[in-house]
Amino acid sequence: MTNKIKYFIGNWKMFGDFRSFKIVLKIHQLYSRLLVSKNNNKIVLCVPNTLISIFANKIKSKFIKIGAQDCHYHEKFGPYTGKISANMLKNVGAEYIILGHSENRHDGDTNLQIKKKIESALKANLKVIFCVGETYKQKKNKKTFISIKKQILESIDKKFNFNNILIAYEPVWSIGSGRIPKSLELNQVIKFIKKESKKLFKMKKYPFVLYGGSVNDKNISIFSAITEIDGFLIGGASQTPKKFIDIIKNYYK
Ligand code: PEP
Repeated sequence: MTNKIKYFIGNWKMFGDFRSFKIVLKIHQLYSRLLVSKNNNKIVLCVPNTLISIFANKIKSKFIKIGAQDCHYHEKFGPYTGKISANMLKNVGAEYIILGHSENRHDGDTNLQIKKKIESALKANLKVIFCVGETYKQKKNKKTFISIKKQILESIDKKFNFNNILIAYEPVWSIGSGRIPKSLELNQVIKFIKKESKKLFKMKKYPFVLYGGSVNDKNISIFSAITEIDGFLIGGASQTPKKFIDIIKNYYK
């Protein structure tokens, strides 16, 4: 169930301007010096749409890929004021895209809309980071497994190319809060997502499942003990090069 490749994906959210490229350069510089097997890691920075083109053009790092954080589900150009399609993001240099983030679900994204977004992102040749996770209320009511299964079932289609979908388990109550799940519970959820997805969609192998929610350079050792976790979606800490790189460094300690 454990994959050798580990993903370290930064979600910059609504942060940064063109000067923030120095953060990307610093991440590259610090990572280059790290004594870890570079072949085993994939680093992706999901930045605001306004920065994708400039970062993707300027970046010379073979280690770092640029990603987007959301798109509209419509595949072609169309009358959708203020929206952007997966194709448009791909055309300016995005290689990955976060879809179904709880902040976007909170703003109205439904499972069905997320499904359409995933479909259009896959067609645009983007790799999808599909977020799932329970709210605090669902956790308290012991609805974690059922709510995650519903999100997966209603947003993934058997015909999707699973090689291009990573699932990120992000408990809503953990994002930006400093609170993290208990190791035993986290282990159970990660295994549940892997087993259920493989079974539901008759996948040949287990999907990549990442964890996201208040990951930092201190608590990463708790997560590294759970070998089934295939990487991390990192919000706040990904905007500071040292914090981001220390997460990778301490993961391998
Ligand atoms: C996120 O926004 O996906 C996230 C995991 O944020 P944070 O690391 O800040 O909790």
